[in-house]
Amino acid sequence: GKPKVVVIGGGAGGGTVAHQLASDAGDALDITLIEQNEEYTTCFFSNLYLGNFRTFDSITHNWDALTAMGVKKVTGKATGIDTSAKTVQLDDGSTHAYDRLVVAPGIDLIYDSVPGYSEADSEIAPHAWQAGPQTKLLKEKLDALEDGDQIVMVPPPNPYRCPPGPYERVSMMAHVLKEKGFREARIVILDPKPKFSKQGLFSEGWEKEYPGMVEWIGPDIHGGIKNVDAKAGTVETDFDTFEGALLNIVPAQKAGEIATAAGLTDDSGFCPIDAESMRSTMDENIFVIGDACIAGDMPKSAFSANSQAKVAANAIRADLTDARKFPARYANTCWSLIATDNDVKVGAQYAPADGKITSTASFISQTGEDPAIRAANYDESVAWYEAITKDIFG
Ligand code: FAD
Repeated sequence: GKPKVVVIGGGAGGGTVAHQLASDAGDALDITLIEQNEEYTTCFFSNLYLGNFRTFDSITHNWDALTAMGVKKVTGKATGIDTSAKTVQLDDGSTHAYDRLVVAPGIDLIYDSVPGYSEADSEIAPHAWQAGPQTKLLKEKLDALEDGDQIVMVPPPNPYRCPPGPYERVSMMAHVLKEKGFREARIVILDPKPKFSKQGLFSEGWEKEYPGMVEWIGPDIHGGIKNVDAKAGTVETDFDTFEGALLNIVPAQKAGEIATAAGLTDDSGFCPIDAESMRSTMDENIFVIGDACIAGDMPKSAFSANSQAKVAANAIRADLTDARKFPARYANTCWSLIATDNDVKVGAQYAPADGKITSTASFISQTGEDPAIRAANYDESVAWYEAITKDIFG
């Protein structure tokens, strides 16, 4: 029969690789996509859903177009990988043989990295860092706030998916409070990091669009999170106890559990890869892409995962068909919406150097920029969303 490619995870990375292989080598390869969910809500643009710029439906997708292209979608959870037999085990007891395996499970949350916080608490104090029901819960709680209420956000430590994501989220929550005409509502960010992505741009934006509403407090001031009490709605630090009508707690992250179970991670909790191909350094028949891998200078983003997927797809075709392997090139851009038509971006291009994915050129929005540039950035981000979701889901 045809060589078998199995992909675990149908998100930004796994969806792209399955789509790319089906488009370029659908006749030559047998492609199976193992994904635990029936639908996929994008984390990217989920902040815009919070801010009323998007509907929930518009950020929810499925794999029907890929199955129409011949990809076999198996709905189930991968629970183990037998790397010598080259099979994947599912929770229903079935096994799937592969010649090449792509592991793209995204992240798992380390709930107890935040003292006092647990998975059960996320039903009260949502993280919404994996999109779907958590995103809807955060939106409901945001919409239920009254003037004078406080939101307390605890962003994650590095490395985590979407470095500017927590700060775009704060902007979108502030936008909703402002649109309601609230004057006394506040958002406090208790950051475990001394600095964050696009900090100058966000600080300027909050000052301009939401004066007096948003306060960022770094670890040198709050001294560290001592305890989160989700039921009481409090976050205790070394210096103070903060009360929130809404707590948004985002814990530390690691590669999705299946990557750990298969022995593909190192001490960092993420998966080392070969920068030329996205091949796991632990197993030559396995590729790891997206948030689960260690991608050198690249941030964990959907744009990055999509870019890495194309390099992996090319390497898999070169392994299994007579296709040519091209030199690996990667790219990323992260847009963040601060307020209506005020969108900032950061991005870079990358290539392998000394065994690592290394930035070769980069750009970032400027403070004090012409509003027309910010509005054009927003249009660009909307076009990007349309393009990348087609690239992932067909
Ligand atoms: P995912 O997209 O999470 O896909 C993993 C898939 O694997 C999931 O569908 C999951 O169900 C499945 N899965 C996991 N384990 C198993 C298993 N054992 N068996 C079967 N299926 C399994 N990125 C951007 O580029 N731009 C943005 O503007 C942006 N905004 C963001 C905003 C927020 C609030 C957040 C949280 C993230 C944002 N991101 C953004 C980051 C982006 O969502 C992730 O980096 C991207 O989804 C990573 O893709 P992935 O394929 O690695 O993982």
